[in-house]
Order: sequence, then C-alpha cells, then structure tokens
Amino acid sequence: MVLRDLPWRKRRTPWRVFVSEVMLQQTQVSRVAEKFPAFLRRFPTPKRLASSCEQDVLSLWQGLGYYRRAKNLHAAAKIITARFGGRVPQTSHELQSLPGIGRYSAGAIASIAFGQAAPIVDGNVVRVLSRLADWRESTKGNIANEWLWSTAEKFVCGAKSPAVLNEALMELGATVCVPKNPRCMVCPVRVCCAAFKANSQEFVPLKQTAVPRRTVVHHAFVEIRKGTMGVQTRPAKGLWAGMLSPPVFESATVCNARKLLRERPEIKRIEQFRGEFEFLTTHRTIRIRVYAVEFCSQAKLRWIELEKLKKYAVSNAVLRIADAAAKK
Ligand code: SF4
Repeated sequence: MVLRDLPWRKRRTPWRVFVSEVMLQQTQVSRVAEKFPAFLRRFPTPKRLASSCEQDVLSLWQGLGYYRRAKNLHAAAKIITARFGGRVPQTSHELQSLPGIGRYSAGAIASIAFGQAAPIVDGNVVRVLSRLADWRESTKGNIANEWLWSTAEKFVCGAKSPAVLNEALMELGATVCVPKNPRCMVCPVRVCCAAFKANSQEFVPLKQTAVPRRTVVHHAFVEIRKGTMGVQTRPAKGLWAGMLSPPVFESATVCNARKLLRERPEIKRIEQFRGEFEFLTTHRTIRIRVYAVEFCSQAKLRWIELEKLKKYAVSNAVLRIADAAAKK
C-alpha cells in the first residue's frame, strides 16, 4: 500500500505534523492539502503563529471551516512558545493539555512526529478495527470505546514503527477499507480479516441512527457602498465566532420585513430580497436569505472592500452572501 502524496508528508517536522492534524479534524484531505502550504509559509513556527493577530490567522484559515480550530491552534502556539520553549511537546499526555488537541490528535502527533507508541482511533480506524475483528456490536458507548482504544494500543505497542502503523491504519481506512464497497481484493490484511472471512464487511461496523439535522434561518443584511460592504464582528461564541459578517438576524423560521425591521433597528429600509441558499454544517442546515438594505447613519459597521473580501476573516457563507448581494 502506497501512502498518498500529501504536502505535510513531504517534509516531516513536529510543527508541520501538528498543524496538519488540527486542519484534518473534520475537514477533507483535499481541502487541507490546498490550504496547508500557504498557512505554513506564513506561520512556519509556533512562535510566528503565536505573535500574529487572530484576524490574520482566521483569514488564512478561510475555506477550512470550523474556525474554533484556528483559534485553538493560535492559543496552542502561544502555550508551546511560552511553556515548551517553542517546541511541540512529545508525549500524548502533554499534547492533550493544549487547546483543541484530543486523544486522537495527540496520538497522531506523538506517533508520527516523535515515534511514540500512542494509539489513534478515528472514523477510519473504527471501521478497520471493527472489520478486522468482525465486531457486530455498536461502535458507540463506553464498552466499544474501551475495546477500540485498547485494540489500537495493542497494535501500536507491537509495531516496529508506531508512525508507520498508525499512518497505515488511517490510510487503509481512507483508501481501501472504505465505508461502501471495501476493496478487499487488494487489501494487504485480507488474510487476517474476520469480516472478510465471514463476508460481513458490508454491514460491519453497524450503522448508527442519524441525528436529525436542525434547520435555522439566517437573514443577512447587505449594503454595498462604492465597492465596500458593511460588516460587523460576530459574537465571541457560537458559529463563525469572532469573524466578520454582514449583520444577520437568526430565527427558527422565515420572518417578514416588518419583523426584521423591528429586530434590527439599525436598518433604515429593506430594498430587495436577493435570494436564498443553503449552507450545511455538521448538525445544521442554514437557510441564508440575503437582503439588500440601507442602514441608518448611526449603524455601527466597518466598511471593507468587496474585492479584498477573501483577505479578511470571513466564512465561505459570507463570500456567497456577498456574491448574491452584488448580483443585479
Ligand atoms: S479485507 Fe476488506 S473488510 Fe477486511 S480490512 Fe481489508 S478492506 Fe477492510
């Protein structure tokens, strides 16, 4: 099995491994591969990241989503600089003391960057381990969790190279032992796979019942003046925390113009409804409705150039809002 050629594998340093593992949390490999080189060029060491302002970090994070990770990475860089002399700590225990680093990421960094025998369990590993053992119970809950982590630990402790073992497990799950139609005929561990022997690989691991997605409505208010758009900083907690966005009113259902004007007194008038699009997050479907408006003169807004929007700390949703608003 050949490992995929990915930017963070070209040159391994603890910091590059650390950043890649944070970026890879809940984000597709192809998206991370696109964003990783520019981020590392700008922040080649924990010290450089620690001394940068948050807005710079968020703007380089644009397109990766889940911006809390960027804030955690920024905070972790400051701790690494202050408490660990600018060097990424080596043990899973120390790594887990950093913001945004859970057991999985700590295991991945400790094993790949430092060769420590630290286990990893993520979605891919769960699938591979369940199939190897033909585990026909739920993979959720304490018992399954304990079994998965102790099995991963046995594997990594018995390996000559913990880094190779962990990466091989991840890679096997991502490219061969995939959820649908696993490629058993080219699988290097086929001979010791209990699910393959039992022909149960299509239903192991057992499917989890999906949690219903919640729908919310974001009414976004946009005024464009001489190529600039009025924005505010979003609240420090919640979705897109601390990022720039046109003023938004959030509700469970679509509201009429009278209600919107009542809720957002800084709007003088709503000129036109410019359309709607859906934005999906892990647990929510967000219906984003875009309105061209005129704000009152006392509205507290920062005016940023539309052409330079991508350079600011804005979400992909805001880029789409700006597109919708700019269309005549
Ligand atoms: S033989 Fe098939 S089910 Fe078993 S680990 Fe390999 S790809 Fe997965």
